[in-house]
Amino acid sequence: MEAFVESAIDRGLKAIGFADHNPLPNGLGANVRMEEAELDGYVKSVLDLRRRYEGRIEVLLGLEMDYVEGLEAYLEKQIARHPWDYIIGSIHYLDAECRQISWPKNFAGETAQLYGRYFELVRKMVNSGLCDIVAHFDVPRRSGRAHTEHEAGDITRTLKEIAQAGLALEVNTSGYRHPELSRPDTYPTRTIIVEAVALGIPLIVNSDAHTPDAVALKFDEVESLLAKHKDARLVTFRNRRQVPA
Ligand SMILES: [Zn+2]
Repeated sequence: MEAFVESAIDRGLKAIGFADHNPLPNGLGANVRMEEAELDGYVKSVLDLRRRYEGRIEVLLGLEMDYVEGLEAYLEKQIARHPWDYIIGSIHYLDAECRQISWPKNFAGETAQLYGRYFELVRKMVNSGLCDIVAHFDVPRRSGRAHTEHEAGDITRTLKEIAQAGLALEVNTSGYRHPELSRPDTYPTRTIIVEAVALGIPLIVNSDAHTPDAVALKFDEVESLLAKHKDARLVTFRNRRQVPA
């Protein structure tokens, strides 16, 4: 974890946030996330880094929370246990059993069905009150299938609910390293970012780095994109409150 902080300092960032994947009950999705017994240790490691790097870079305590329909009470209890700076809400499973086969990336059904189910779950998550930030908004593009005009209504409706709920939208640069995309890009696409800005939704730029060298990946490109949109509002979080970035 220290290597991520050092990388952030090298890249001139003022702050770095950690957001490991939250545990789920009964070993659901266990291959990609912390186990329940690891959560306290994770929090402690981040808070230790915060103290150790004080005055050099700010270290934020975050969590990427998988929203799973039916597990709201479990998630609420899990989140209440620690002093998070922010909770990023994400949808990685389209079924409640959290099977890999239901990842948007692996989904075998029709494209319309994929996006329809996905955005339905995003809206449930947005209205659950459990998270502060909506992660990688159009991540089903990782299936290699882009959204089309067919999804435009669903996208607008979901963005409006994000605005209504007062959540921030993540501009996630991990698409620049995902070979499944037809060309390197952010999640969501520029068109969606512009639509979100027009709706007054604040943005937070994340690299979703899984390795230290991916910290702040392509932040310069996002910066030049956002510079063209004067209304774009960038935020960060402290103690689950939005503050200007
Ligand atoms: Zn994610």
